[in-house]
Amino acid sequence: MTVLFFLLVGFIPMTGNAPELVHGAAPEMSDYASGIPVITYHQITHHESAYSATPAKLRDDLQRLYDAGFFLILPDDIENGLSRIPFDRRPIMITFDDGWEDNFRYIDMTGGEQYIDPDCAVAIVNTFIEEHPDFGRGVVFFISWDKVPFGIQTEEKLNAVLDMGHCIGNHSADHLAFTKIPPSRYWEQVIPALNSFQRKLGLRASEINVFAYPGGRIPRGVNAESTMASMEHQGRPAVIQGYLVDGAVSSFKRIYESELGEYRISRIDMALYSVPRLLNWSNIMVESNARPSLHDDLPWRP
Ligand SMILES: [Zn+2]
Repeated sequence: MTVLFFLLVGFIPMTGNAPELVHGAAPEMSDYASGIPVITYHQITHHESAYSATPAKLRDDLQRLYDAGFFLILPDDIENGLSRIPFDRRPIMITFDDGWEDNFRYIDMTGGEQYIDPDCAVAIVNTFIEEHPDFGRGVVFFISWDKVPFGIQTEEKLNAVLDMGHCIGNHSADHLAFTKIPPSRYWEQVIPALNSFQRKLGLRASEINVFAYPGGRIPRGVNAESTMASMEHQGRPAVIQGYLVDGAVSSFKRIYESELGEYRISRIDMALYSVPRLLNWSNIMVESNARPSLHDDLPWRP
């Protein structure tokens, strides 16, 4: 399967680096389908705003992505060459930025009992994954420490997110835009955040090694990526992947073509894009001989 994958991708002509795109601009297009869409949400609320989506929209997006044959991947799948993705599926990563309380909220019952608000992001995702176990295993919550992550009960919620099979990413200590501070000060935003994770998660915090840049961008030409790659936390690389918000879809090759390609992984803000628009883009990864319907038999099954 892995060999087949690399054969298919390897022989399709590749284009060079695409320019970064501003919010709302047309996506990076290319003549091959090898992109890995990474989408991001912020708040999930009933009040629509420039940076939020409603619970109904999130549920609808999940259904549309599932119906279109997507399979949820996590950052370690990118490290593993996407080898875990079923033959007939295409990868997508879903991320939530900032750690808003509406991403993980408990509702208090009389008598001291608590249950998870069914309209918060993690409950919506968990319910959908339970009902569609072939959709993949989880999503990424990028947490910043400029406010109390997930509102209250941070320690309990961070641990629960990992127990549920989701991934936690670093979104900085103070949420300062990385275009506004020099690379020499990046560590002030990366390392203290990892220390904060460690206070809540103990040894489990060593799993946190992907970073979403506050403000969604890093400057070019100032060694921003190599600065990120050089940071260590307790003997381990502090950051092995960096995520932008640039409205683009990174191609598999663009992520891997240089040692530092993984520090510039594109993401699409879903407050600005819709899944139907995303599905019209030609560069999202799809097998040329994908089954027309997910309910058809696998092609090699005797
Ligand atoms: Zn943010």
